[in-house]
Amino acid sequence: MAQHLLQTTTAGSLPKPGWLAETTKLWSPWKLEGAALIEGKRDAVRLVLRDQEQAGIDIVSDGEQTRQHFVTTFIEHLDGVDFQRRETVRIRSRYEANVPVVAGAVSRKQPVYVDDARFLRAETSHPIKFTLPGPMTMVDTLYDDYYHSREKLAWEFAKILNDEARELEAAGVDVVQFDEPAFNVFFDEVRDWGIKALERAAEGLTCKTAVHICYGYGIKANTDWKKTLGSEWRQYEETFPLLQASAIDQVSLECHNSKVPMALIGLLKGKDVLAGAIDVTTDTIETPEEVAATLRQALQYVAPEHLYPCTNCGMVPLTRKVAQGKLKALAAGAALVRAELSGG
Ligand SMILES: [Zn+2]
Repeated sequence: MAQHLLQTTTAGSLPKPGWLAETTKLWSPWKLEGAALIEGKRDAVRLVLRDQEQAGIDIVSDGEQTRQHFVTTFIEHLDGVDFQRRETVRIRSRYEANVPVVAGAVSRKQPVYVDDARFLRAETSHPIKFTLPGPMTMVDTLYDDYYHSREKLAWEFAKILNDEARELEAAGVDVVQFDEPAFNVFFDEVRDWGIKALERAAEGLTCKTAVHICYGYGIKANTDWKKTLGSEWRQYEETFPLLQASAIDQVSLECHNSKVPMALIGLLKGKDVLAGAIDVTTDTIETPEEVAATLRQALQYVAPEHLYPCTNCGMVPLTRKVAQGKLKALAAGAALVRAELSGG
């Protein structure tokens, strides 16, 4: 798949156009309805695809333009979850939210994003990535009144995700990525069943499989949490050795402007590292030189053929202009380092 070293990609989401949903707002309601909404989502996918291609991003995504939220939209398509009933839970032990209730056996009524993947595949000749929520992160955003076991519910979600992922692969998707920010919080569960559930979700896939683990968007609950983490963020130290021994091919993580010691990516020996060289919690657009500096640091611990310049997290909370600038900076910074590697 790789034509040149340092293939650039993103964590997944990009801002939506203002005519589709309010930009910079998480959970923003759609501004269109019915057939107009379906057409509007596709037009938005075309726009973010063009932004990525023009910026020079190699492995492109649909920018999650067809989803309101990276976890909830997938769950809305499942049976067994009652969205009319609501209970309050603490998400990632960090903030309270009023969430839907698991009231029966969960199952997938029909494919969720497979048509979107076919559409994206037809619109670009670039390799494409599709993101899905990870099993643990799904469990952590619901109130379970049926399985009464986070592990059992995660296992059921993993099977559902695997069905979806296999169909995404058949639709021509090159990378299926599972978003597991919960892996940065529940270390005992990651060890006991989180990795196994993730591997179950990725079972049998021949395309690249990735997991994204981050410190979240720049919302207050996250920035407050980060203040409690001290001068060095060592959460990855718990999960990386387990992921290194897992069947997952790629790990997407946060680097730029974070307090994650870069040496921790050395724990992922042999895996592809999607190094976050773009901060999604600020409107300040990185310079290509700043991106290059992060990548050079990463190269002290990961071989060039395993390094994929990426964003720290999804860019959905940003304005379109800022996100476009950051995409360009990412590609330009990667180009600088690529030239150095080839002796140019
Ligand atoms: Zn993230």
